[in-house]
Amino acid sequence: MNKRTGKFSLLLAVLLACAVAAQSQSPPVTAIKAGRLIDPETGTASVNQVIIIEGEKIREVGANLAIPAGARVIDLSNLTVLPGLVDAHTHMALTYKEQPENNYYYLTYVTDSTALRAIQAASNGIQLLNSGFTVIRDVGNNGLYADTALRQAIEQGWLPGPTVIPSGIIIGGTGGQFWPTPEMYKYHKIVYPEYIDANTPDEIIRAVRENMLFGARTIKLCIDCKPWGYSVEEIRLAISEAAKGGCKVEGHVQTPEGAQRAIDAGIHIIGHGQALTPEHHRQMAEKGIFLAGTDTPFAKYRGTEAAFRQTVAKLRSAWEKKVPLTFSTDFDYWNDRMKDDKTGEWLSRGELTIAFLETWKAAGIPAPDILRAITINGFRAADIIKERGPIKPGMFADMIAVTGDPLTDIDALRRVQFVMKNGMVFKKDGVMMPEKFFHPGPVRIPSGRYTR
Ligand SMILES: [Zn+2]
Repeated sequence: MNKRTGKFSLLLAVLLACAVAAQSQSPPVTAIKAGRLIDPETGTASVNQVIIIEGEKIREVGANLAIPAGARVIDLSNLTVLPGLVDAHTHMALTYKEQPENNYYYLTYVTDSTALRAIQAASNGIQLLNSGFTVIRDVGNNGLYADTALRQAIEQGWLPGPTVIPSGIIIGGTGGQFWPTPEMYKYHKIVYPEYIDANTPDEIIRAVRENMLFGARTIKLCIDCKPWGYSVEEIRLAISEAAKGGCKVEGHVQTPEGAQRAIDAGIHIIGHGQALTPEHHRQMAEKGIFLAGTDTPFAKYRGTEAAFRQTVAKLRSAWEKKVPLTFSTDFDYWNDRMKDDKTGEWLSRGELTIAFLETWKAAGIPAPDILRAITINGFRAADIIKERGPIKPGMFADMIAVTGDPLTDIDALRRVQFVMKNGMVFKKDGVMMPEKFFHPGPVRIPSGRYTR
C-alpha cells in the first residue's frame, strides 16, 4: 500500500465509522397502527391510520403509509387513538384532608412541607398520565415552587408525568385567599409562599418576574379574592409583564364584578365559573377568553346536590353562549370515601379527575364538544398547541388509545389502554410500564436553565 492509498483508506475508515455511529444514534422509529384516529378539532374519525414517530416527534400520519424498515410496530387496530387529555386547572401539590385539618388548606400549608407536597405532586402526575392526561395546567398553591420543580424534573427525564404548565405562586393583594391573624401575617409572614402579596404596580411586576424566573409558564392572579382585588389597569399590567416571558394569565374569579374586570382587561383564562352570568359568557365568547370552570361533580366523596345543579346550569350556559370551554377540576383534596363502589379499592387521582365528565354529561353537552374541551381547547389554553397536542407531523408524539368511540360515548375516556408521551410508551394493554422514563440524572435538559 502506498502512502496515498493508506491515507485514503484511513479517511474511508473514519467516514465509515462516523456513518455507523450516526446510524446508531439516529432516533428510533415507531409505527402505530390505529384502528380509528380521532381529530377532536373537527370531531371526526378516520379508520386504519398509520402514525410514524421518529424519536420524540410525529413524522407522518395517514392511511396506507409504508412502515419504515426496522421500525417498531405498535398495533392499536382494535382501539381508538386520540390526543392526550388536558386538565386545565388543577393543583397537584396540595392535598387537604378531613383529618387533621378539617379540609382547611390554610392548615395543610402549615403541616405539609413543600418537599412532601412535591412528592405528592410527582405521584399525582404519574396517576394522571396513567388516565391519559398528558398536559396539566397547575395553577398555584404548591408551596415554594413544587410545581415548577415537577415540570423541570419531568422535562429532565427523572420520572414520567404529564407536561406541566405551572403558574408558580398565586399573585394577589394583601392576604391572598387566606384570612390570617395579625400575628401570623405580620410576624410570621404566613401568606408567603402560598401567595405573593402584590399591592402596587411595582410589586405586581416583581411578582410576575419572580414566578417566571423560577420556572412558571403561566401566571395566576387572584382577581377578587379580597374586596380590594385588582383593577382593570392592574390586570393589564400583569398581562403585559407576563407576555415578556411568554406567559399568559389566568384570573381566579369569584364575584361578578371581578369577572367583568378580568374580561375588560382581556385575560387569557377565567378560573372558576360560579360567579359568571350569561352576559359574561357572551363577552368571553366574543373575546375568545377560555373558561376553566372547575366543574365539580356530585359524588359520595365531594359536593352537594344543590351546588352540582348550579355548576351544571353555569356550564350549560357557557356552552350555549359558545365560550371556549376547557376541562378543569380544581382538584386539591382527599378523603377516605374515594373508593370504587364495586371493588372497594382506592380511586386513583386520574380516575377522580376523569370523573368530572359527570358534570359535562349532566349539562347535556355533546360528546364531540366535551372531547374538544378536554383536548384542543386545553392545548390552546395551555398555550402549547404549536408544539404539542394534535396528532400531526412535527408535533411531540403524545397520544392515548381507548376502547370504544369517545365521539359517541364520552365515557370511553375512562378506558385508557395506551399512553404515549414524547414518543415513549408509558402504558400498553392497560398496564403502566414506566421504567424507561426513570433516569439516574437530568438526561434531557441541563438543570436550572431557563427552558421556555
Ligand atoms: Zn384552583
